[in-house]
Amino acid sequence: MQNKEKVVILGGGIAGLSAAWRLSKKDFEVHVIEMSNRPGGLAGGVEWNGNIYEFGPHVFHTIDQEILNDIKNIMGEDLIRFKRTVKIKFMGEYFNFPLSITDILKKLPFKTVVECLFSLIYHNLKSMINQPERENSETVLLANYGKGLYEIFFKSYIEKVWGIPPKEFSPDFAKQRIPKMNLLVVAEKLFENLKPKSSKEIDIKGYVEKVEGEIFTTKHGFSLIAEKIGNEIQRSGGSILLNHKAIEINFSNQKAKSVNIVSNNIEKMIECDHLISTIPLKHLVQLSTPTPDQTTVNAANDLKSRATLFVGIVVDKPIALPASFMYFREITFNRIMDLSYFGFDITPPNATILIAEVNCDVSDTIWNNEEKAIEKVLTDLEDELIIKREEVIENHVFKAPNAYPIYLLDYEKKLETVFNWIDGISNMQSIGRQGAFSYVNSHIAMKMAYNAADNIIQGDYTKPTK
Ligand SMILES: Cc1cc2nc3c(=O)[nH]c(=O)nc-3n(C[C@H](O)[C@H](O)[C@H](O)COP(=O)(O)OP(=O)(O)OC[C@H]3O[C@@H](n4cnc5c(N)ncnc54)[C@H](O)[C@@H]3O)c2cc1C
Repeated sequence: MQNKEKVVILGGGIAGLSAAWRLSKKDFEVHVIEMSNRPGGLAGGVEWNGNIYEFGPHVFHTIDQEILNDIKNIMGEDLIRFKRTVKIKFMGEYFNFPLSITDILKKLPFKTVVECLFSLIYHNLKSMINQPERENSETVLLANYGKGLYEIFFKSYIEKVWGIPPKEFSPDFAKQRIPKMNLLVVAEKLFENLKPKSSKEIDIKGYVEKVEGEIFTTKHGFSLIAEKIGNEIQRSGGSILLNHKAIEINFSNQKAKSVNIVSNNIEKMIECDHLISTIPLKHLVQLSTPTPDQTTVNAANDLKSRATLFVGIVVDKPIALPASFMYFREITFNRIMDLSYFGFDITPPNATILIAEVNCDVSDTIWNNEEKAIEKVLTDLEDELIIKREEVIENHVFKAPNAYPIYLLDYEKKLETVFNWIDGISNMQSIGRQGAFSYVNSHIAMKMAYNAADNIIQGDYTKPTK
């Protein structure tokens, strides 16, 4: 019998699982190495007492027909259509998001509205005539929203969430993260309506984070999608090693040869013909033996991520928020979701689960002091009249140290340096939100994974994976 080629995949998030799924349908021996106790990574959630807590709102949506069909096929009736409602609490008012002109006109003071309008027109027109010498997120947002709206809605928000002023962010950040609202958008929208609603392929390059196509959830959130992909991998003979951490990656002659993994203090080595990494790029570089050149090491260390601490609270009432999720400016958490809106199975019945997101750095006090985090979140929720203490059934803290890649100015150059090293390794690909250091949604992480798997299947690495 011919030996199958062995593919080792680092990380069992949605990217790692999707690559493994595609490869395990073909003639490959696939091993997924995942350090946590659940598959799915950021999209996989955590579990306490039968309840799934998501790492913030996670809905599935894509216009890529292949990915959509694959997910529909394995999920069947478990996929639930979902209509999200989003609100921002600001200046004592709830605004709908994305920002609507009617809301702004109704809720901001008249003088502010007039100032915002003039500044929007001025900055829109100015940006058409005059390009800034060097773009950053502030210049992009000013051009799209004008000074008034930029200062009211974005500047302080970005500073709170990221701990960095927008002018220190690459323009990519504003382009990928924040929907445009300039004069051209009206024309763009009109044009969009004339185009067919779905296209067959999605682009990875220049991906702009937006919600397209129908939105789906499940009774266990995105985690059920991850779980079912995991089942498919195992059904096809692939293995998913949970609670296993990759601690060293061994290279020789510009090829990845093996990976050392550890579980319960027991180390073992697993050989590979191909390696797909979905772990954070800086960790990939740190774990590599021999160590890459110093320029690559420095570049990888300069790729920073923003952490998020989540407080999950089971509340003794069927619904707690006026929308499926909400953004806040002046309090501890930046966003909070109410799982009842997402159709989750929640224990006990008639209770809901709130999940508050506190963006921070892993060196911040709040990251290391869970009791303080819970206390601050509960106090804020009481002050906002969302819950009363006596309604709290249980609460939990869980954390994502690499929730968001931080697109600092010049991050593109650092990324290129690291990818020059990766591209020099003939049998290794690095993909996904962490592996490509890219602010992508799950379906784009899946697309990268499908392409990486196809590259292995077809025997040449020509499909784009970043
Ligand atoms: C708050 C929030 C909300 C989001 N909402 C949505 C949404 O609504 N819809 C959507 O489509 N996307 C959403 N996303 C984006 C989505 O979560 C990601 O795009 C997707 O989960 C990325 O998957 P990944 O596999 O690339 O990375 P990850 O999920 O980060 O997976 C990487 C995996 O590698 C593992 N790992 C790391 N180091 C090692 C090691 N040394 N050894 C073994 N394993 C290791 C980690 O444990 C992790 O499981 C959201 C993201 C966030 C942060």
